[in-house]
Amino acid sequence: MARYNEASCRLCRREGIKLYLKGDRCYSEKCGVSRKAYPPGMHGQKRQKVSEYGIQLREKQKARRVYGVLERQFVRYFKEADRRRGVTGELLLQILESRLDNMIYRMGFSRSRAEARQLVRHGHFMVNGRKVDIPSYLTRPGDEIAVREIRKGKPVFKEMAAWGTTHENLPWLEVDREQMKGRIVRFPTREELDVPITEHLIVELYSR
Ligand code: SF4
Repeated sequence: MARYNEASCRLCRREGIKLYLKGDRCYSEKCGVSRKAYPPGMHGQKRQKVSEYGIQLREKQKARRVYGVLERQFVRYFKEADRRRGVTGELLLQILESRLDNMIYRMGFSRSRAEARQLVRHGHFMVNGRKVDIPSYLTRPGDEIAVREIRKGKPVFKEMAAWGTTHENLPWLEVDREQMKGRIVRFPTREELDVPITEHLIVELYSR
């Protein structure tokens, strides 16, 4: 499976904002954006004029990077959002939010979406009582996500139990931290989402 393997902090610096790709480090002084607040590369500190296309492109790249999705899959999500009835940009975000790795991150069972992806790939989670090891699995309201019983003793989940108590519970999710499971009550509204994405620019980009 293809995936991005280069430094995550470069991605944040390219977008000029914190994308929170590295868990605890993102909240510390070591954060790449705090240390070098300019784009990476030898021309990073030069002032550059950005075209309308460039702005739209950056917005799409930002969305891909926040959710850790590669281009081909992102295009598939866009086509699916475009096919559905409603506001395409919001539907696109809804699809991205419904990914299993994102839901695990939102429930506070991982410190970043990247960590959630790895935990899912290692087969630590069940959806509705069945093991699922596909991070891009699309969940639905009513689905129950739980850490598998035999994996609950793993150090990563013991650690999670400690820091997870500080995680803010989201109104669209029901989380039982002791039992290490959660239920999706509904999908979030656009206003509830904290992602720094202007989704209509992505729709404009793909509508060119
Ligand atoms: Fe981005 Fe986190 Fe790196 Fe900061 S530490 S630049 S938020 S990935």
